[in-house]
Amino acid sequence: MDTLLRTHSRLELLHPSYGLAERHGLFSDVKLQNSEFGVLRRKALKKWPKKSSVRASSSTLLELVPEIKKENLDYDLPLYDPSKGLTLDLAVVGGGPAGLAVAQQVSEAGLSVCSIDPSPKLIWPNNYGVWVDEFEAMDLLDCLDATWPGAVVYVDDSKKKLLGRPYGRVNRKQLKSKMLQRCISNGVKFHQAKVVKVIHEETKSLLICNDGVTIQATLVLDATGFSRCLVQYDKPYNPGYQVAYGILAEVEEHPFDLDKMLFMDWRDSHLKEGTKLKERNRRIPTFLYAMPFSSTRIFLEETSLVARPGLQMEDIQERMVARLRHLGIKVKSIEEDERCVIPMGGPLPVLPQRVVGIGGTAGMVHPSTGYMVARTLAAAPMVANSIVQFLGPNHGLLGNELSSQIWKDLWPIERRRQREFFCFGMDILLKLDLPGTRRFFDAFFDLEPHYWHGFLSSRLFLPELVFFGLSLFSHASNRSRLEIMAKGTLPLANMINNLLQEKK
Ligand SMILES: Cc1cc2nc3c(=O)[nH]c(=O)nc-3n(C[C@H](O)[C@H](O)[C@H](O)COP(=O)(O)OP(=O)(O)OC[C@H]3O[C@@H](n4cnc5c(N)ncnc54)[C@H](O)[C@@H]3O)c2cc1C
Repeated sequence: MDTLLRTHSRLELLHPSYGLAERHGLFSDVKLQNSEFGVLRRKALKKWPKKSSVRASSSTLLELVPEIKKENLDYDLPLYDPSKGLTLDLAVVGGGPAGLAVAQQVSEAGLSVCSIDPSPKLIWPNNYGVWVDEFEAMDLLDCLDATWPGAVVYVDDSKKKLLGRPYGRVNRKQLKSKMLQRCISNGVKFHQAKVVKVIHEETKSLLICNDGVTIQATLVLDATGFSRCLVQYDKPYNPGYQVAYGILAEVEEHPFDLDKMLFMDWRDSHLKEGTKLKERNRRIPTFLYAMPFSSTRIFLEETSLVARPGLQMEDIQERMVARLRHLGIKVKSIEEDERCVIPMGGPLPVLPQRVVGIGGTAGMVHPSTGYMVARTLAAAPMVANSIVQFLGPNHGLLGNELSSQIWKDLWPIERRRQREFFCFGMDILLKLDLPGTRRFFDAFFDLEPHYWHGFLSSRLFLPELVFFGLSLFSHASNRSRLEIMAKGTLPLANMINNLLQEKK
């Protein structure tokens, strides 16, 4: 597979914003709280050319684990013993939220499971935001460490929309601890390594790890996120990219209400008329996303919703610096930062195939929003049930027959149609400039909550999605309708074509 086309989610080691921010006087007295930062930055500059590209190879990026925020959980993990040469029921490659959720649930049913990850105790590095109702539905409210009763969207300088839907930040430590504890008590074994290869035999698969250990399992689940380690794709990979730069910062002050998270701020008054930056932002806009924890502690993320190719991280950081200065936000220190590159849309993996997937590796990121954590956690019980059912004594399926059933449950036809529709949404967003994007979201958030909630949380299916589309159209301004018709014709034709191909 072309490594150039396989993209990992994080460009870990670029910190140009530091110098940039210093030059722009954004940070009043910057102390990056991690003492490794200076060392890390030097290493980064050695390894990477100044202008990085989102098309960098995943294998290189995978080596670049988040050195800045390496905080491990304090658990004694029961280790996999290679000397026993046992064939496990399930080997889960990747210990992110998706992989651990399935490992936990399959082991609960008494099946033998091994979880393989290069850093199994590491607290996940990303700042996950979710709608509270999504976590409530999974009984995971205890895994949110901050919630806001509502959210706000600034369409432009004169228009803002208040969204009466509670939002929350995931408590990564709590969520991972909870899952690890359950895995441990269910007898899951852990192996600390990277899987480099899989060899399939008729009734089992052999996973070769980078420490020389081979793990045998009846079924392999690839949960390696966007690095897509084992799952195969047979169509050209042409996703859009969400690119964002975020900081969890202590600031002197900020202008945002503490009872609302800032879902999207599309204002551009921070960019001077006639400048290249303003023009770049007009063509491919970015917005600010923020979670205010207190009057002096806030998570701020400048985000390009979707672009193809993805925006350069430096471009995003430059926009963020200008925005924060305009908003009068002076950063005193940074607790964490994150560089986010999420591939969105693109083809689904080969369906079915021997290795089963979940999460980023299985095309589950929402193609129009980049969200995934709630969707994969909600899908995990279904995947786990399917594994237990078809591997268990009632069916006792093996090899390709087994994987094929599980893929069917993961991507039934209605989910594939839903994804096509979301990809259609992404294709329209890709073509909209700043005024078009503003008109789109102006109409989007005027919809009945059932529609916009359902769209963002992957709860709408055909034919309801058609009503959603019509409703969006009827709420749109005349200009926006023309835009949707002009820019949506080709994506619509593609969607119909793909749906027809699926039917065959
Ligand atoms: C910075 C950032 C912010 C995000 N914010 C949000 C958000 O707010 N809300 C949201 O819904 N989604 C968000 N996302 C999307 C996010 O990636 C997913 O929601 C979530 O992390 C997906 O979980 P996962 O388990 O599929 O993959 P990951 O979390 O990526 O986990 C994959 C695991 O596999 C391991 N791995 C990789 N290769 C191998 C290998 N060869 N062998 C063994 N193990 C391997 C990795 O070390 C990692 O532990 C964000 C993504 C990024 C990058």
